[in-house]
Amino acid sequence: MKKVAVVFNGGTISMKVDPRLEAAVPSLKGEEIMNMVTGIEDYAKIESHEFSNDPSPYITPNDMMELSRYIKNILKREDICGVVVTHGTDSLEETAYLLDLTIKSDKPVIITGAMRSSSELGYDGPANLAASICTAISEEARGKGVLVCLNGELNCASEVTKSNSTSLGTFKSPIFGPIGIVDSNQVIFYRNKVINQLLETENIETNVGLIKCASGMDSDIIDFYINKGSKGIVIEAMGRGNIPPTMVEGVKRAIDSKIAVVIVSRCYEGRVLDTYGYKGGGKGLRNMGVIFGYFMPGQKARIKLMLALKKTNYDIEKIREIFENDTYNYVTR
Ligand code: ASP
Repeated sequence: MKKVAVVFNGGTISMKVDPRLEAAVPSLKGEEIMNMVTGIEDYAKIESHEFSNDPSPYITPNDMMELSRYIKNILKREDICGVVVTHGTDSLEETAYLLDLTIKSDKPVIITGAMRSSSELGYDGPANLAASICTAISEEARGKGVLVCLNGELNCASEVTKSNSTSLGTFKSPIFGPIGIVDSNQVIFYRNKVINQLLETENIETNVGLIKCASGMDSDIIDFYINKGSKGIVIEAMGRGNIPPTMVEGVKRAIDSKIAVVIVSRCYEGRVLDTYGYKGGGKGLRNMGVIFGYFMPGQKARIKLMLALKKTNYDIEKIREIFENDTYNYVTR
């Protein structure tokens, strides 16, 4: 029988309501959660690992790198066919994407969690864990990169985002849709993954800012990051990749200070492009040296920029290639 490593890493899946606080807090150990996944012994041998019990807003990019190293070591073992990781859903997409960019392995790595704690009716943790383990033992899941598994749906880490603060089916891939489902413990893939990008590096540059554009904003926040010595800034621009004219001077100052500036859209779907020529429009930004992050949400573009800065030793032109040219290229894993 195949053996799966389940790495417990906190989130609502390991929480229950503290009666004094009347709110959910970390409580359950991995083994306690595994005991609720009844019948899984008919499918796989489970090896439980306790990595952390953190709520996901506590998880830092450095923690994500440590988790990546931890998983890589497990994947080296011949007796392990795949890894399942639990994670709070709030920052799950950031960790999943970092793992996808940094782990080179054909073995399935599945990230899961829960939207309801163990104190709530309809606690979804055990069902999500069961579906994730079924995916980890599936031959078809090999070579598909890191997958996110909740609510019986499989989404690629490179494509997925959290779309709803409460729904059990919160994880959506706005551009590409789910890659597959887990139905009656059977894994069914609809398609292959679209993006196959690797940024293998041992280090991460964490001094990277994220700014969301809103009407009437000026350059103050950009200047804050310049003064902080940030090495990169991701700007969630409006629509097709346009910013208020009052932010343009700040972007220019950032680029002159050799900061990598990546533009994505604050829209849920669609990519940024240099369509508009007015001041603040994408054309002028591109001519100024801004890097286009295309369809990615800001929080994921930030993770990618953190890795790309170290990977390229802060070479802006190589970072531009990573964002603008490599995204759709297939890289042999
Ligand atoms: N706040 C929780 C966390 O991300 C939410 C969850 O796990 O779904 O840790």
